[in-house]
Amino acid sequence: MQIPSLGDFIARHRNLFVLTGAGCSTDSGIPDYRDADGGWKRSPPVSFQAFMGSRAVRQRYWARSFVGWQHFRKAEPNQAHAALARLEQKGHLRTLVTQNVDGLHQAAGSTQVIDLHGRLDTVRCMDCEGLMPREQLQAELLERNPGWGTLQGRTAPDGDADLDALSFAEFAVPSCARCGGVLKPDVVFFGESVPRSRVDAAMRALERADGVLVVGSSLMVYSGYRFVQAAAQSGKPVAAVNLGRTRADELLTLKVSEPCGLALAAL
Ligand SMILES: [Zn+2]
Repeated sequence: MQIPSLGDFIARHRNLFVLTGAGCSTDSGIPDYRDADGGWKRSPPVSFQAFMGSRAVRQRYWARSFVGWQHFRKAEPNQAHAALARLEQKGHLRTLVTQNVDGLHQAAGSTQVIDLHGRLDTVRCMDCEGLMPREQLQAELLERNPGWGTLQGRTAPDGDADLDALSFAEFAVPSCARCGGVLKPDVVFFGESVPRSRVDAAMRALERADGVLVVGSSLMVYSGYRFVQAAAQSGKPVAAVNLGRTRADELLTLKVSEPCGLALAAL
C-alpha cells in the first residue's frame, strides 16, 4: 500500500476538522508541557480545585502569571498558524479547534476557531461570570504590586513564569470589582471540564467534516483525544503532525513526525 503524503491527504479533503495543540505554538516562544513520549516535562499546571480552594495558590498563580504575561502577550503567530489560515482561505478547512489559549490562530487570520480551553487574554469572575480584558487586570496587578514590575522569570507554559525562589505571601490579588468574587483566567484549568456547549459545537463540526488533521498535540488530554476517537469510530481518516508519540497513534491514517511549522509550510 502506498503511504499518502500530508499534501495528498489535504488535497483529498475539502472539509477538514483541524485540532491543534501546544506544538503549534512552540515556534512562537510558548513552551510545551509534554516531552516526546507525552509525559510531563515539568510539574503539572495548577489544578482548578487548588486554585479555587486556596488564596495562597491564587497568589502564587497570579504573581507568576503577572511576570509571564509580559512575554506571552508579545507572542506572534508562526508559519504553522499562517499555513492553517491559508488552508481555511483555500476552502480545505471548515473548523479549527484549538487546545491553545494564546489566540494566535485568530492573529494569523483564521476565523472558524473554537477555543476549546478558552483564552488567556480574558479574565472571568467565578461568581458573577463577568468578563474583563487581561490587560486591565495586568494594570491593576502592577498598581497593587509595583515592586514586581521589573521581575524576570524563566518562561513557562500558559503564560506562566518560574519564580520559585520568591515568597508570594505579599502579592496582592484583586477580587471582582462588581461582586468581590474570585477572578480566574478564562481558560479551562487542569481538573476542570470544558463547557458542554463548546464540546457540542466542536462535535457538530466534526460530524460535518470529511477528515481530521491534528497539529502539534500529543492528545494526552481527553478533551482533545475524544475528537479523534469519535472520528475513528465514524470511519473518518485522521492525519497528525506531531513531534513524538500521540495517544492516538494506532488510530491514525497518516503520521508526520516533524515540527508543525516545517511540515505545514512545505504544503
Ligand atoms: Zn463578580
